Amino acid sequence: MSKTCVVTGGAGFIGSWLCRSLAGKGYRVLCVDNLLTGSRENVEDVLVKDKVVFIEHDVSKPLEISEDVDFVFHLASPASPVDYQNHPIETMLANSLGTLNTLNLARDKGARFLLASTSEVYGDPEEHPQTEGYWGRVNPIGPRACYDESKRFAEALALSFFRKHGLDVRIVRIFNTYGPGMRRNDGRVIPNFVAQALNGEPITVYGDGKQTRSFCYVEDMVEGLERVMFSEGISGEVFNLGNPEERTILEVAETIKRITGSSSEIVFKEFPEDDPVKRRPDISKIRKRLGWEPRTGFEEGLKKYIADCKQKNK
Ligand code: NAD
Ligand code: UDP
Repeated sequence: MSKTCVVTGGAGFIGSWLCRSLAGKGYRVLCVDNLLTGSRENVEDVLVKDKVVFIEHDVSKPLEISEDVDFVFHLASPASPVDYQNHPIETMLANSLGTLNTLNLARDKGARFLLASTSEVYGDPEEHPQTEGYWGRVNPIGPRACYDESKRFAEALALSFFRKHGLDVRIVRIFNTYGPGMRRNDGRVIPNFVAQALNGEPITVYGDGKQTRSFCYVEDMVEGLERVMFSEGISGEVFNLGNPEERTILEVAETIKRITGSSSEIVFKEFPEDDPVKRRPDISKIRKRLGWEPRTGFEEGLKKYIADCKQKNK
């Protein structure tokens, strides 16, 4: 009998790639999503032969599943700063009550649990690159707090289930991830810049563009999520997942302009409050312990994303 995975947030960007990959490997997948920032279209192609079953449900409400479950991937939460600032309370509930409900589900079923946390738990970091041992620098009352603090709460709750109930829990801190399937208007930097470049509109760099990020292609990310979930002997551990190649946002704008052959001008807008100035994962832990590292270069991944955008524009 094939094993069953629950993927919350499965109709979102990363979740839909994960559902597709797990189904391709023979798992039965229950995709749980309330469609707040995701869409059924993202998983429509795999909703066949009962391999991926779509369950429309808000994880901040208790989750009842009658069949056996072996693995719970908890990804349900808005992730784009524009989305979570538009839905601050829903974001806090998905990461607090949603994490509680999915942990309870894993406990009831004797399943393994993976929490999709974020590099945002490091806030605007003073340690660079960020290792898993860094405690972070987060503004608890700023515009990003609904996301950052609820993810920090989710991590603490998951480890409380590990310590108190011996639940097999793993936490991944995901750094900026991109690729086909991102909502064109989700407000994140790569969809924004690519749409602006393709439409000949101004490319909007916030601040002076000297802030940095490190971008991971989604296929590498999904491989990392699976590696952490399906490895033995790492219960209760935390891993950074991301691509350590760091670049400034201005460089990202220039690269996208060049690759798309766009004549868009680059314009500078106000720097958002609490926007982290530097971000790069230290991935030595996962490299050493689980042998994972990203394989897709930035331009290679961007070209795949741009090709997908052009195809969908047709
Ligand atoms: P996304 O917005 O595309 O997907 C999130 C999904 O969760 C959506 O389908 C949404 O409808 C669903 N959802 C939200 N609230 C829900 C609720 N209460 N009940 C059920 N479903 C709910 O975002 P994404 O980029 O795919 O991110 C997925 C996960 O990865 C999130 O937990 C996010 O915090 C984490 N993450 C992503 C990134 C990134 O760069 N993409 C970086 C760090 C962390
Ligand atoms: N950004 C930008 N222009 C945009 C969107 C984002 O300059 O149109 C910047 C943003 O200020 C941040 C970086 O790009 O410094 C990454 O933003 P994103 O929203 O993708 O994710 P974050 O890493 O901030 O969660």
